Amino acid sequence: MISTHKYLNLGDKFTSLVNPNFPENLTLELINTDLASQIGLNNDDLKNIQDFCCKEKNKDLKPFASAYAGHQFGQYVNQLGDGRGLLIGQSFAKDKVFDLFLKGSGITPFSRFGDGRAILKSSIREYIGAEAMHGLRIPTSRSLMFFSSSEKVQRDQFETAAMIIRTSKSHIRFGNFEYFYYKNDSENLKKLIDYCFDTYSEFTECDGSIKKLFSKIVDSTASMIASWQALGFCHGVMNTDNFNIFGETFDYGPFAFLEDYNPNFICNLSDTSGRYSYANQPYIGLWNCSALGQAFSNFLSQSEIEDILKYYEKIFSKKLLINFKNKLGLTSSEEGDPNLIQAFLDILHKKNLDFTKSFRDLENVIKKESPTSKDEELRQWQISFLKRHDKDSISLNKKIRIISSSNPIITPKNFQIDKVNMQAEEGDFSTMEKMLDAYKDPFIKNDLTSEFSLPPKNDEKNKRLSCAS
Ligand code: AMP
Ligand code: MG
Repeated sequence: MISTHKYLNLGDKFTSLVNPNFPENLTLELINTDLASQIGLNNDDLKNIQDFCCKEKNKDLKPFASAYAGHQFGQYVNQLGDGRGLLIGQSFAKDKVFDLFLKGSGITPFSRFGDGRAILKSSIREYIGAEAMHGLRIPTSRSLMFFSSSEKVQRDQFETAAMIIRTSKSHIRFGNFEYFYYKNDSENLKKLIDYCFDTYSEFTECDGSIKKLFSKIVDSTASMIASWQALGFCHGVMNTDNFNIFGETFDYGPFAFLEDYNPNFICNLSDTSGRYSYANQPYIGLWNCSALGQAFSNFLSQSEIEDILKYYEKIFSKKLLINFKNKLGLTSSEEGDPNLIQAFLDILHKKNLDFTKSFRDLENVIKKESPTSKDEELRQWQISFLKRHDKDSISLNKKIRIISSSNPIITPKNFQIDKVNMQAEEGDFSTMEKMLDAYKDPFIKNDLTSEFSLPPKNDEKNKRLSCAS
């Protein structure tokens, strides 16, 4: 069932009702039925959403844009808000609530100079990126529906407009709190915090404590980033308006998954200083949490905020080590483990080896219980890896299971998404559907994961994108 979004009750300082202006000739191309059932939507709900978007029926829905601010590339911007998106309602599954959000449905009071549109290429990237992250077991917003359109919009060149329906546990971003804090509007800031307590069962255990709320948000953010690092995910635009309160990966712009391992990889061509490089992501996660801490500073003391930020470092380091030890199939702890992991990463970097494939290949090393590489340096590392495994008493089968369930066979590469986009521009979504199927289980060997694990040609490798969307 779709209900009117409760956020609307907060009033016009928070939201602005907007009639969508849908792109011309919207056509539903894809529908995510697995997701629909997980978030409590039945076929009638899906039909209602489709009719609303394509036939502009269903007047019960009350779409609105939300006001938020945010730090973009380190600079505070006092008014961002939904410039091309609208929340249309909420759905419920057990005690959990989910947001339904149109992206690309026309201008809003927050559009500034934008046209309120999303383009086909970026919408496809968001759909695939999010579904892949879900398959890779990383918390993320997702896409429920993908609509094509015949409308053309001006970017660097003319592009085709499209629209998606995005779902997430919440569209409340760090920037929603910053918006009221920097306006010195403590009353509405408190209203927003109380809304979080009243709406989300995940925050029941906070017992109304803002300190506990902040530390829960910090915890889930640190865990999310530890998962990104372990999968080689590069977000590209880690602004505080792109971080939500549940540590869900949010806002898929110029993202990439590492191909040749390079810690200094910057996936976003617009990020000239490398603020959001792969290696910087953990620090930026902390930076964003500290920006959120500042927004809570009317309610928490400086030392309370600092203690919770220290906790970020603890959680992040602990989870990162667990994630990488899982990638190596290790269950016990030895002092030298971080060095063993780092030594492997150093070799991958030096020899420009594929991050995803190199880790997955450890499955073969452990199966054979002998080194497999012809490269001397890698062979020596494999010997120390196997020696380390001698000290881990679990069975070989268990080690293989841990390695293969912690290292996917595939991650979506930008050159592959480009090919999907070229086909989609011609109205053919078959490769996109195939790719989405592959990400239903990217850890399992089958025809689909084999197909999408084929390496890129040299000129297709390590593709970067700009912010333009
Ligand atoms: P994003 O880069 O998608 O995180 O967007 C940053 C801000 O710019 C948000 O306030 C967006 O709503 C707004 N924005 C981005 N693209 C457009 C567009 N084409 N029209 C209107 N607003 C936009
Ligand atoms: Mg954004």
